[in-house]
Amino acid sequence: MSFERRQTKQIHVGKVPVGGGAPISVQSKTITKTADVEGTLQQIYALAAAGCDIVRCTCNEIEAAEGLAQIVPRSPVPIIADIHHQYKMALAALEAGVHGLRLNPGNIRKPEHIKAVAMEARDRNVPIRIGVNGGSLDPALYEKYGGLTAEAMVESALQEIAYFQEVDFDLIKISVKASNVPLMVEAYRQLSAVTDYPLHLGVTEAGPLPNGLIKATAGISTLLLEGIGDTIRYSLTADPVEEARAGRQLLESLGLRERKNVDLIACPSCGRAEIDVIEVANRAMRAFEDKKIPLQIAVMGCVVNGPGEAREADLGIAAGNKRGHLFVKGRNVAVVPESEMVEALVDWATFIHEHGAEAAIARVDTALAEREAAKDRNALLEEKGADANHSNEKIVEIRKTISDN
Ligand code: SF4
Repeated sequence: MSFERRQTKQIHVGKVPVGGGAPISVQSKTITKTADVEGTLQQIYALAAAGCDIVRCTCNEIEAAEGLAQIVPRSPVPIIADIHHQYKMALAALEAGVHGLRLNPGNIRKPEHIKAVAMEARDRNVPIRIGVNGGSLDPALYEKYGGLTAEAMVESALQEIAYFQEVDFDLIKISVKASNVPLMVEAYRQLSAVTDYPLHLGVTEAGPLPNGLIKATAGISTLLLEGIGDTIRYSLTADPVEEARAGRQLLESLGLRERKNVDLIACPSCGRAEIDVIEVANRAMRAFEDKKIPLQIAVMGCVVNGPGEAREADLGIAAGNKRGHLFVKGRNVAVVPESEMVEALVDWATFIHEHGAEAAIARVDTALAEREAAKDRNALLEEKGADANHSNEKIVEIRKTISDN
């Protein structure tokens, strides 16, 4: 299933295309001092490894611009300079060779300063994001609209576009972020109706985990499912690697980015679980975290329902009678001690990734594995009574009990 995406113009941030049908890219931001070249590069590499396509670094002082001059040529991904109040920092960042700028129209307001930056960016073929932010809206617009509204944010973006157009600059992408999700969604909807520049989506100051993740996902995915958005950023109060992971995972789960990592599914656990599902699933998640294995892997709490419920997974394990039952594409392939469940998953996943599921199934005696698995299932059923899923018979009994009393 795919979503129809709204057509936008295409720009390039370094080697990464944004808009115009390009794959949606993931952005994040370093939290080091940009003048700390080695520390910043270390963070950029960690972000790139977690799935980040474009990284933004603060350029708030001359030392930061000088740092950028050393960071840009050594970075594995394009670098955008975040400019706060001083337009001269934007000129310095361009001189440092950055691949993009982010300007906040609420902070740099003098038209001559905005145009000076746009002309320099134009001559260097460097795009600029117009980053409208609900928290720093131009007070004149705040007053005009009687507060922070979607209309006010859109007008702020349009004003900035007009300055850029006056100097023939159109390598533009836009964001209209707010920390209030419905407001942010509405602002992007209105903006996408009046412009075809590519849009950068985000919920600003979303906060710490897990609330921040929920807010950002609610806002960003609502818009993506409407076809709006060309690049995304999670603004979390957390290690920026979490932002990159979240962005990548969101795109993968919406089918908007090819899966490169494990999609771990797990049952929510219940009274029938034979193991601590939460602990085993978390251990499995950590074991697979940065492995480039694009398989769906299931961790299920019991062998009675688990294998059936996870039948679509490439590989899974279900707990029963102190053993883990491994299954590949729904077929039992091995039974391992409970303490080795996660290690077994990693071994099998690595093998399947390298040789395919058929080869994995062919290397074992599936009949033996099925017999062992059946032994455990039957023992459990016997111990706990026949399958508790005989709900129809139970309903008859319940109704009988009620009508008899
Ligand atoms: S797989 Fe088993 S333990 Fe997990 S939720 Fe289903 S019935 Fe419960």
